[in-house]
Amino acid sequence: MHTWRIGAVTVTKIVELEVTGGTRFILPHATRDTCLAMSWMRPHFMDDDGRLKMSVHALVLETPSRRILVDTCLGNEKQGRAVPHWNDRHGPFLGDLAIAGFPRESIDTVVCTHLHVDHVGWNTMLVDGTWRPTFPNARYLLAAPELAYWRDQRDVAEQRTVFADSVQPVLDAGLVDVVATTHRVCDEVALTPTLGHTPGHISVRISSDGEEALISGDFLHHPCQMARPDWAAAVDYDREISTRTRREVFATLAGTATLLIGTHFAGASAGHVVRVGESYQLVS
Ligand SMILES: [Zn+2]
Repeated sequence: MHTWRIGAVTVTKIVELEVTGGTRFILPHATRDTCLAMSWMRPHFMDDDGRLKMSVHALVLETPSRRILVDTCLGNEKQGRAVPHWNDRHGPFLGDLAIAGFPRESIDTVVCTHLHVDHVGWNTMLVDGTWRPTFPNARYLLAAPELAYWRDQRDVAEQRTVFADSVQPVLDAGLVDVVATTHRVCDEVALTPTLGHTPGHISVRISSDGEEALISGDFLHHPCQMARPDWAAAVDYDREISTRTRREVFATLAGTATLLIGTHFAGASAGHVVRVGESYQLVS
């Protein structure tokens, strides 16, 4: 289990799954040969054969006043997902969350960086054939432009299914607060817009006692995009905007003490941004 301390805030990573290879459908430019030259990515983010490692995980933020879950991964027993092994899962995520000290009833805030399938899954769980909120005592914070966009995507089959089983039930339960992309959650935690991957995508900034961290969400999927900010993900809604966002955020973070915690970074999952010539690297 990975934990980080940012001032008075503790961040704990709860892994749902890690994979090596098979990432070309997300990052089509990231061939093995090209990535092998980025030796700094070994061993956490790439194996010796140039295959990329990625993770689907949630992050629990314990602040003096709140217990916040950032992104809710894939979930169990979901159907209609385009990636075959994301269907009908029976993983131990909720048990792992409880073992780490966070039974689901104790979560008071859920933040979804965006409403893609691998970030909303555990918003709900199947109870007697009905999708119920997994975190009944939480406020679910959804950014207004993100919710508005996906509400309108009724003709995209997978997203329609995802919205119906993982977003609509928490709306129906009255647990959603629709918030601005700059919403302040508490003294130490605020949302910040990092657009391009989706129309209302946000990252999560932590500031406490002079220490800073940024939880990425999917404005980048893998550290190789620090070396190549122009390697947009195949699933980026607007690749020009997502590339601009990556360049801007990396330039802002480079050389600072801000810890970048990657939402899909495997292994160490976090590090500091260092500028190398015209590009960037992650030093973990
Ligand atoms: Zn994702």
